[in-house]
Amino acid sequence: MMFNLEKSAQAFAEAKQYIPGGVNSPVRSFRGVGGTPPFIAGAAGSKIYDIDGHEYIDYVGSWGPMILGHAHPAVTEALREALQHGTSYGAPTLLETELAKMVVRLMPSIELVRMVNSGTEATMSALRLARAFTKRNKIVKFAGCYHGHHDSLLVKAGSGATTLGIPDSPGVTGNIAGETLTAEYNDADGLEQLFERYGEEIAAVIIEPVPGNMGMVLPRPGYLQQVRNISRKYGALLIFDEVMTGFRVALGGAQALYGITPDLTCLGKIIGGGLPVGAYGGRRDIMEQVAPAGPVYQAGTLSGNPLAMAAGLTTLQVLAGTPSIYEQLAAKTTSLCDGIRIQADKFDLTLQYHKAGAMFGIFFSAEPVYNYETAKKADTTSFAVYFQAMLEQGIYLAPSQFEAAFMSAVHSDDDIAATVAASASAFARVADSKTR
Ligand SMILES: *Cc1c(COP(=O)(O)O)cnc(C)c1O
Repeated sequence: MMFNLEKSAQAFAEAKQYIPGGVNSPVRSFRGVGGTPPFIAGAAGSKIYDIDGHEYIDYVGSWGPMILGHAHPAVTEALREALQHGTSYGAPTLLETELAKMVVRLMPSIELVRMVNSGTEATMSALRLARAFTKRNKIVKFAGCYHGHHDSLLVKAGSGATTLGIPDSPGVTGNIAGETLTAEYNDADGLEQLFERYGEEIAAVIIEPVPGNMGMVLPRPGYLQQVRNISRKYGALLIFDEVMTGFRVALGGAQALYGITPDLTCLGKIIGGGLPVGAYGGRRDIMEQVAPAGPVYQAGTLSGNPLAMAAGLTTLQVLAGTPSIYEQLAAKTTSLCDGIRIQADKFDLTLQYHKAGAMFGIFFSAEPVYNYETAKKADTTSFAVYFQAMLEQGIYLAPSQFEAAFMSAVHSDDDIAATVAASASAFARVADSKTR
């Protein structure tokens, strides 16, 4: 049967009449690869289903949260139980403390933690806190790192390794963007130079320890420790944005994997178990500045929502309570990446394969990719050909070269074998498209 997305195409056309671009978050619209996004009817385990009747093996996992797979029985049961007691109170509950205790136990750099509703809110609040704590205004971020869509962080690099911020979106004022300095990821010397010039003014360095939003990039050996040392030397806070990597690359996140102690950590995605949650936490003396303990204001009507807490807590309990789950996730990720590489090699396609724990990314680039500059050189046309060929064969990848992919605990050996087999014919199509 021909692969067709007729119902999805109709649904997309209708959605566009009521929702900007037809989607509630831009990358869902498939601008990066062309074609129609499948509209989703449901998901279970490692599979996701569209309204046209297709089944896909899912490596998006709602962009990270679904590390246990979709509709995990324990998470579903926890939600059903929570639902019987009402959906929101705007008052303290036992579940919030339980989840906070769990986070503090799994990430020792976190002594106090505040729940919010999204990763964006977490990084926004962490920056405000860092500025208040240090009484400094400037922030350093890295080109290609994404920390959510609020004004201070919606800034990319201008030309050169280190430039003053230029807004990435209309509506972000030059004044706000100007407080954001941009450095190149994996370049400790560049960061040091930025600090030599602006050190007294820099409140914090915010970093995705393992970037997953310019495609997946790995830190060079020792790099994260250098970032820690430089920020400490100049009295700036180090904020690890572990919204994606937290409970993903290891149970204790990238900070456990690489042995780094940040001052503040931002969380999201897995901590909500598929419901809208974010969190920020860290050193007690810093976090005690947050209202009502301290003067730094931050609040949320639905923060600590009982359904979200139930889903997040249960997800973390399963992760923490399943021996060797991260070894198994890493082994599956390795087996998949190795399988894909063998197929690509058959067509003389030299690609870059990056993986850490249950997260991986493949760049259509013959050159090493270690920062935003090198990521941007990837062959997005070939990626789009590969992506569409995979989709047609029932493999659901993120619809952009510049996103990571996620393994879940319920992806089976059969799922992996099917993905490798699909890659063989997808690479054939890529090779064919290159010779035209
Ligand atoms: C997804 C993501 C965010 C934003 O989280 P939202 O819940 O989408 O607001 C921030 N930082 C990183 C590293 C992310 O991957």
